Amino acid sequence: MVVGIHRPSKLVINAEAIRNNVKNEISRLDGHSELFAVVKANGYGHGIVETAKFTKQAGATGFCVAILDEALALRDAGLTETILVLGITDVKYAKLAAENDISLTVGDQAWLDEATQILDQKPLKVHLGIDTGMGRIGFQDGASFKKAADYLEQSQQFNFEGVFTHFATADEKDTTYFNLQVERFNHFISQLTRRPRYVHVSNTATSLWHAACNGNMIRFGVGIYGMNPSGKTLESPFDLQPAMSLESELSFSKLVQKGRSISYGATYTAKEDEWIGTIPIGYADGYERRLQGFHVLIDGQFCEIVGRICMDQMMVRIPKSYPVGTKVILAGKSGEKSITMTDIAEYAGTINYEITCGFTQRLPRIYTENGVVN
Ligand SMILES: *Cc1c(COP(=O)(O)O)cnc(C)c1O
Repeated sequence: MVVGIHRPSKLVINAEAIRNNVKNEISRLDGHSELFAVVKANGYGHGIVETAKFTKQAGATGFCVAILDEALALRDAGLTETILVLGITDVKYAKLAAENDISLTVGDQAWLDEATQILDQKPLKVHLGIDTGMGRIGFQDGASFKKAADYLEQSQQFNFEGVFTHFATADEKDTTYFNLQVERFNHFISQLTRRPRYVHVSNTATSLWHAACNGNMIRFGVGIYGMNPSGKTLESPFDLQPAMSLESELSFSKLVQKGRSISYGATYTAKEDEWIGTIPIGYADGYERRLQGFHVLIDGQFCEIVGRICMDQMMVRIPKSYPVGTKVILAGKSGEKSITMTDIAEYAGTINYEITCGFTQRLPRIYTENGVVN
């Protein structure tokens, strides 16, 4: 993967914001609860190992990832905390997970039966996933769940470490479906003869708005990065500090005469003589093509993206002549104004998660402490 270090477009990630978000959330937990940092998908685009380290400094005691490779990357980086893989891992890697002390999610008995054939001395840590309404993975009926829990209790090959569920609507105003899921979860849990070490249900939204059902560990994801899981629907109980900015510079600037058009398809035509700046970033960086018509910040002013966004470049209308090298903020603050990942997401018709996950490896990630590069 080629990283564009000789180009001014970059993601700037504020370690202090990540630490503050984690600390603020931990301060809201009761004394018996732990915060596991969800750092899947390269830390939602922020860098998996870096993010994991910042959250650990702020008090996170474990990590959640989506796939086994992400867990192995954290182990390779020297992190020794509990790491839970939230998705289903192919049972053929059960031994690899056990050898690396990685906890796996299990959603049916057949997986456990097969793993029993593969595992040897080192026990595998297991969390049983319960499908209370997400419809994605996990046990749907109480009897098979009870059987699997009992099986884990009597087996030497497994360490029954956790049970959990995942909510489908924790970020919505209407709590009807959420409450139904809570009810179902409680019914599952009541069947256990012994509670495993971790009983967990909370993603960021659940912990922010339904803290009463947190269990004893939360899986805190999008909040780490300072993004609101509901977009602009629900207000966060504390100020989430955005951790990521997207910055660039003008690579070209010119006066365009009235009637001249801009970019592929000639979809934009200057209505008068206009200053047009070019920014060296495009959809190959994850700055989506559907953001045509949205804006960036230059010198504290919103400037409209005009014409189609290209693979590697795009054009903006600027109010006057600005020289090549002028700073451009695509996400972040400039003067009194700001553009959030949620603003970008709303314009693109998606959620903030997809925006930060979508920034590609061509963009360098620069880590700072409140703006000061380490
Ligand atoms: C991704 C994920 C999380 C974290 O969700 P956020 O909304 O980012 O807090 C928690 N639990 C599971 C099962 C997940 O897949």
